[in-house]
Formats: sequence, structure tokens, C-alpha cells
Amino acid sequence: MTGWPRLRVGMGHDTHRLEPGGPLRIGGVAIDHDQQMVGHSDADVLLHAVTDALLGAAALGDIGELFPNTDPANRGRDSAEMLTLAWQKVRQSGWQIANLDCIVFAERPKLSPYKKTIQARIAELLGLEPGQIGVKAKTGEGLDAVGRQEAIQAQVVVLLHSTRD
Ligand code: MG
Repeated sequence: MTGWPRLRVGMGHDTHRLEPGGPLRIGGVAIDHDQQMVGHSDADVLLHAVTDALLGAAALGDIGELFPNTDPANRGRDSAEMLTLAWQKVRQSGWQIANLDCIVFAERPKLSPYKKTIQARIAELLGLEPGQIGVKAKTGEGLDAVGRQEAIQAQVVVLLHSTRD
């Protein structure tokens, strides 16, 4: 890593459409709701954004390159498994996570009762302390696709530090 900064920042963003059904999967947690997200995998919008933030910080591409939606193996796939594999790749490239900050944009349901569980689940998946993971929830104020309850979005920022001298 000579000549390279020992810190790297990464950002992830994802959107999934909503349809009637349930439960919602957000951050590896099943949330009781009358809508569910649509996607090729299990459509966990937050875990996809976390995965992309990690891959981006390490300049290792994106979730679509690693797990193409043209591959039948990825149909209905558990996003926790995809995140674990991506994190393994990033870690093997010599990086550790300093912290993650996550925002979920959902009009409904109210996510505050689930934030601690989501934080704990992401920490478990990445081998971190819950205190390294920020989880915030915002609505769309009734305005855009989020506000009209047509979609849920997530944004994530991660800071990596080098494990190599
Ligand atoms: Mg996605």
C-alpha cells in the first residue's frame, strides 16, 4: 500500500420498488408490513447499499458485477450472504472498517423500533461492534416515490482503514 492513503471512504445507494405482501427485509431483519420490496435477490435495499459502499471504498467494483442479476444463482439470494462474500473480498484486500453510517428512506412503517435490531444484525454480519454502525431512518414527506410508498431507498457511507503497513 506504499504511497496509498491508509483511509478510504465509500458510498452506497440503492432503491427497491414496493408491492403488496410482506414482510419487508431491511438490514437483514424481517419487518412485519403489508408491503415487500421487489428485486432479483431478496431485495434487501440496505444490505445492498452497505455492500456497494464497501466495494466502492476498496475500488472492487459493485454488487451488480459481483452478483449479476442474469445469473440464476442470484435469484432470491440472501443479501446477507452477498454482503458476507463482498466483505471477505474487501478484507482480503487489506481493509478493516472504521465505521458505517446508514440512512433508510421509507414512508412506512416507522423504523425507529427496528433500528437497534438492524444495527446489531449488520454488526454481526461484518464482525463489528454495534457502536461502529449508525442507523437512521427518514421519510419522503409524502413527496417522491418514497413518500408515495412506491419505493424504499438506502444510502450508506463507510470508512475503511488499511490493515497493512
Ligand atoms: Mg438492490
